[in-house]
Amino acid sequence: MSENNKDRNNKDQNNNFFNNNPLLAFALFAIAIIVIFKLMVGDGGNIGSVVNNNNIQQTKQVKYSEIKKAIEEDKVKSVKIAPSSIEAISSEDGKNVRLVATNIPAIDRDLIPLLEKKNVSYEGIMGGGFFSDVISMLLPILIFFAIWIFLMKRMNKGMGGGILGVGKAGKLINSEKPKTTFDDVAGAEEAKEEVKEIVDFLKYPERYIELGAKIPKGVLLVGPPGTGKTLLAKAAAGEASVPFFSVSGSSFIEMFVGVGASRVRDLFEQAKKEAPSIIFIDEIDAIGKSRTSGGPMGGNDEREQTLNQLLAEMDGFGASTPVIVLAATNRPEVLDAALLRAGRFDRQVLVDKPDYEGRLAILQVHIKDVKLGSKVDLTQIAKATAGLAGADLANIINEAALLAGRKNKKEIEQEDLMEAIERAFVGLEKKNRKINELEKKIVAYHESGHALMAELTEGASRVTKVSIIPRGLGALGYTLHLPEEENRFLKQKHELVAEIDVLLSGRAAEDVFLNEISTGAANDLQRATDIIKAMISVYGMSDVAGLMVLEKSQGNVFLGGGQTIKDYSDKMAEDIDNAVKEFLEQRYTHAKKLLNEYREAIEEIVSVLRDIEVIEGTKVREIIKAFEEKSGLKKLAQKEEKSKQNNPKKEK
Ligand code: ADP
Ligand code: ZN
Repeated sequence: MSENNKDRNNKDQNNNFFNNNPLLAFALFAIAIIVIFKLMVGDGGNIGSVVNNNNIQQTKQVKYSEIKKAIEEDKVKSVKIAPSSIEAISSEDGKNVRLVATNIPAIDRDLIPLLEKKNVSYEGIMGGGFFSDVISMLLPILIFFAIWIFLMKRMNKGMGGGILGVGKAGKLINSEKPKTTFDDVAGAEEAKEEVKEIVDFLKYPERYIELGAKIPKGVLLVGPPGTGKTLLAKAAAGEASVPFFSVSGSSFIEMFVGVGASRVRDLFEQAKKEAPSIIFIDEIDAIGKSRTSGGPMGGNDEREQTLNQLLAEMDGFGASTPVIVLAATNRPEVLDAALLRAGRFDRQVLVDKPDYEGRLAILQVHIKDVKLGSKVDLTQIAKATAGLAGADLANIINEAALLAGRKNKKEIEQEDLMEAIERAFVGLEKKNRKINELEKKIVAYHESGHALMAELTEGASRVTKVSIIPRGLGALGYTLHLPEEENRFLKQKHELVAEIDVLLSGRAAEDVFLNEISTGAANDLQRATDIIKAMISVYGMSDVAGLMVLEKSQGNVFLGGGQTIKDYSDKMAEDIDNAVKEFLEQRYTHAKKLLNEYREAIEEIVSVLRDIEVIEGTKVREIIKAFEEKSGLKKLAQKEEKSKQNNPKKEK
């Protein structure tokens, strides 16, 4: 994220604040003058504030008639008359008492003659005083301005602009020509490859336009925070040397209704003016949340308008306008389906947390900026930082530099880096982003279980890669399978069973090797259950229901429009439940038995995983083969023999 830019923008905004608002500045100035004047003049003649009369011992609130009576009784020495109040100094029992009457009746013509007659000194004074009148008039305005300014400041913070920035989005959107290149992005090779295509289009738009090629308009970068999505987008702009317009989705939302939409319009207008260019929308989920997930209060109007505007803009420019919208999110599942439709963000690029190699590469990028001691071993650092994202690693190096500086060292040493890692983890533990050793172990066994079963079972897809790096998007680890042949539409029964076996083996491995099971298998179990249920009630593959189809779908279930209709008796339902349970138990027992037999192979796969977190499918097979040669077991050998017979060409 481009925090620095946001800050910079803020400052500019504040400096220009008064320049942009002469009227407001004048009003504030005027108020200030009045307040100062008021303070200098002090008492504006307000009766209540006459306190400097030294020998007054008491002040009494009385009725006007009592003052008048006192005058008549010759008790009063002096009188001050204001339009609506009167104050008399009278002596009672040798004491000077101030009598104050407020709300006196409308002009009493008899008063002055009476005072003359009694020889009482009197003077007239102004009521509340001119200045206090002005103040009381201006005070509400003053308060209003204070609140207004407060709101402006808050909004400035929120979105790098203010009310007055409406329609002047130029100030609110960061535009730059970044110097970032793909070399600055490490350990995200697959994501980089995908983004490189876009760079080519931005560099040579004519080539594509002439061919009539439809260029992707939007690319969604999906991945946990700090994995370099912003960096990647910037690098794309840097490589293509095109302007980079960046905004954060959340900045659209803190505004009044309609403003977000107008900012989207301005954003695209500018980007089109400077095409070829890249628009980057960080945290797009802030505006792109599914409109149906608005909750009981219904949707958020502002968000919806902004989203609609965004959709309209993306549809609005043709394939020949070389503007590419990159958006980042770590929650793709909440996005409105409309955003992901063709012509919008129809490409998704996964920017995942780096594995060991990736972390090493990222560390190497970031140590370029610091002085590193010759004995520093980055491989150890990379190993100790499993589960961390690029941003965390960059932080660790910086933190290590700070630590070394504090110790007055000339170079960063290993111990500084290790200490920085510790600090990072303390911070991250709170955020739940660190995988602890126990979890790593559990996940390693779980995934090894899947992988082993996949390799040994006929009909199961081969393993491409096993990883225990949390993907940030749910799973703690994953085993990547590739079907042996592409473009398969039919599945045989033994393949479905194989799939179930593989799914159950994660849990089985935990059970066999750790003697305890975890919540990590929930998704596996769900899928296994779904498959066996479908085998029984849809595919007619069981003894329970025979060929009878028990569920049929109406409409197109895959487009979300259809529904399944269950058409069977309660007795049958019970039978199915029992059959499902029994079948799963049987497969689970099988899985546990097999894993037990291949115990040594599993242990070896696990130890590789715990060491470097990923293992390639080929390496998995090597380990299993080596074990089979030693032990005389033959599952994998048989499977390979069979597949050689079936596809004599393909297998090497
Ligand atoms: P995101 O947008 O995914 O939240 P950023 O792109 O803002 O992450 O990453 C923040 C910083 O972390 C980057 O500026 C960079 O210094 C560092 N960083 C993250 N990923 C990488 C990477 N793959 N290679 C090099 N540096 C990275
Ligand atoms: Zn699993």
